[in-house]
Amino acid sequence: QAKKIGRGAFQFFDPTMQELVSARVTLEADLRESLKNNDFVLYYQPQMDAHDKLVGFEALVRWHHPTRGIVAPGQFILAAEHCGLVIPLGHWVLETACKQLASWTHDPEKSHLTISVNVSATQFHEPNYVEQVLAILKKTGAPGYRLKLELTESMLVNEIESLITKMTELKGHGIGFSLDDFGTGFSSLSYLQRLPLDQLKIDQGFITNIVTNPSDAAIAQTVVTLGNSLGLSVIAEGVETAEQRARLFELGCTLYQGYLYGKPAPLEELDH
Ligand code: C2E
Ligand code: MG
Ligand code: MG
Ligand code: MG
Repeated sequence: QAKKIGRGAFQFFDPTMQELVSARVTLEADLRESLKNNDFVLYYQPQMDAHDKLVGFEALVRWHHPTRGIVAPGQFILAAEHCGLVIPLGHWVLETACKQLASWTHDPEKSHLTISVNVSATQFHEPNYVEQVLAILKKTGAPGYRLKLELTESMLVNEIESLITKMTELKGHGIGFSLDDFGTGFSSLSYLQRLPLDQLKIDQGFITNIVTNPSDAAIAQTVVTLGNSLGLSVIAEGVETAEQRARLFELGCTLYQGYLYGKPAPLEELDH
């Protein structure tokens, strides 16, 4: 839509649209540059069991932007997906997490800990994804059975057969699979039965009001029951209060992740 912007000049794009496009272009250029310069950092968020014992961490990427400071993934993962940069970024994330796992193997205090890594659909659907992961395990010396990959329900829509094949191959090397943000997507229960999963992760959206909203509690309980009957562990994300944690325990959920136990942080800051 042409808009008059004064002195008879016309602009044929909505300026806000133009701004959006140039912001996207800048973002992609910045991402590309930051990948070269290694401006990304992995933060880790603790995952606890019902005895409040640390069982592992979720790795969450942060961008140390040269001028914008620390940027959360919500602000750039989608853009990285669109321009394909999520592939090298995801590779870096996995390698960094695996180096961490490898460094713990001879430490009796830490060798039992797991790391969960988020995988984007674009990444998982790469034809040589399995080879990439196995090469990283080999290069870093990380034990596969300490690594979990977090998939999302949106990945279960397409190419389910190749997804299952890849998961099965990776599972053969000990790697576990967690279904992230569970309950927000549209995965059919028959897929759930066919996928070689290890864990369901109850979405934060059902945890926030779990104490006051019986229907959120009912959904959380249903996920726990479903997980139990499929032989999967169930973890709740976004647990912020002791009351939420207590309610989850009542509902049978015995793994927790959230600000109650710690915000995502560089490992050095969590490490004591
Ligand atoms: P997610 O995997 O569902 O991660 C959980 C998000 O909830 C994280 O946001 C975490 O910081 C936040 N969170 C954890 N506990 C609490 C809590 O108690 N309260 C609240 N309000 N929030 C909590 P974050 O780190 O900003 O990450 C957002 C999303 O970005 C992640 O959601 C994940 O989908 C994606 N992501 C993060 N790292 C990566 C990565 O390395 N690769 C890919 N492909 N995606 C990533
Ligand atoms: Mg996750
Ligand atoms: Mg999640
Ligand atoms: Mg989430």
